[in-house]
Amino acid sequence: MLQLFLKPSRDLPIRRGHPWIFSGAIERCEGDDQVVDVADIYDNKKNWIGRGLHNPKSQLRVRLLTWNKQPIDQSFFSTRLAQALTFRSEQLGAATNAYRLINGEGDFLPGLIVDRYADYFVCQFYTAGMESLKKEIIAALIEIAPMTGIFERSEGRVREEEGLEPAVGVLAGIAPPETIGIEENGRKFLVDIRRGQKTGFFLDQRDSRQFLSTLARGRSVLNCFAYTGGFSVYAHAGFAKQVVTFDSSLPALELAEKNLELNGYADAPGEVIKGDAFAYLKESDSKFDVIVLDPPSLAHRRGDLDAATGGYKFLNLHALKHLTPGGILLTFSCSQHLPRDLFQKVVFGAAVDAGRKVTIIKQLGHPIDHPVSLHHPEGEYLKGLALRVMD
Ligand code: SAH
Repeated sequence: MLQLFLKPSRDLPIRRGHPWIFSGAIERCEGDDQVVDVADIYDNKKNWIGRGLHNPKSQLRVRLLTWNKQPIDQSFFSTRLAQALTFRSEQLGAATNAYRLINGEGDFLPGLIVDRYADYFVCQFYTAGMESLKKEIIAALIEIAPMTGIFERSEGRVREEEGLEPAVGVLAGIAPPETIGIEENGRKFLVDIRRGQKTGFFLDQRDSRQFLSTLARGRSVLNCFAYTGGFSVYAHAGFAKQVVTFDSSLPALELAEKNLELNGYADAPGEVIKGDAFAYLKESDSKFDVIVLDPPSLAHRRGDLDAATGGYKFLNLHALKHLTPGGILLTFSCSQHLPRDLFQKVVFGAAVDAGRKVTIIKQLGHPIDHPVSLHHPEGEYLKGLALRVMD
């Protein structure tokens, strides 16, 4: 097995549980360091620290899987997957059959995402190391929870940086239908796991959708960046006066209409509108009692942060202007590079420029199936604020 020895003092974060080793932290190696493989990590004095997955093509050279001397095989994955599954099953209850089973670093399996949608799993293998263990991982998934099928959606920038091509298709079992029916807190949704955004549904907003339903009674709601209408269904379920569902994606809105219908809200007051939310918020003069602002990530890289904060400020400024006195804004950022404190400052700037006085009524974020490792705070990508404007 490849052995990597770290530079003096570069072992400290790793010993404390951070899973990432960049190329600059490595002093020397024993074995072939040009291969994707399991590697043992040592400090400068040859003390063993942990075991991880090595990729010579990435600056992020190793991602640790364990701080124990254990083989990385099917049984390693079945143990981790079974622990994750037990926790989700205990916490989420029978009214929810769609959730994130494995959240990468947050489940101590960096490079792997597994989402469950009813009787299908959707997997994303983000790193060359995880890709090389696909067979073991799929066998472990089948062992712990047999499903009708396992589908792969390994795409995106991280995979490119790892030197991997996108991979989409059936990994096991029966090919999924065009849409899969799921339940979330007893609400029904159709999910397109083949072509939908992310793995098909924004599972990470479950708790905030539920929170919205507690606020919606008798209020007019604008669901901006609505995707397939998740927040809209919960707003109706919470007896909203009317709900506007707004997004730029036609396929997403077609599913949103079906989702409204599926839950019995086809004729409930409201509208489904396709358009650019930036333009709509700037130009429309409609007022709402509640606005949900859940844009896509505006900062994909650290370098995009300046432009992104400008975008978030613009959206929040204009959304605040549309709120009635006492109105509520649920505002989110899913950019990993925008920390919570900076997001709050951007929203503060927006409130000042909008001339509104605002209180924070709740901090919003990941539900329990999206755990963040305390040792890897970078994993907290989703942050949200529930705000109330004074007058
Ligand atoms: N709130 C949703 C998830 C939103 S994801 C849920 O709970 O399911 C972000 C959404 O923003 C996507 O549906 C995408 O189609 C949409 N989007 C991206 N750019 C947009 C724009 N300029 N105007 C309106 N919608 C946009």
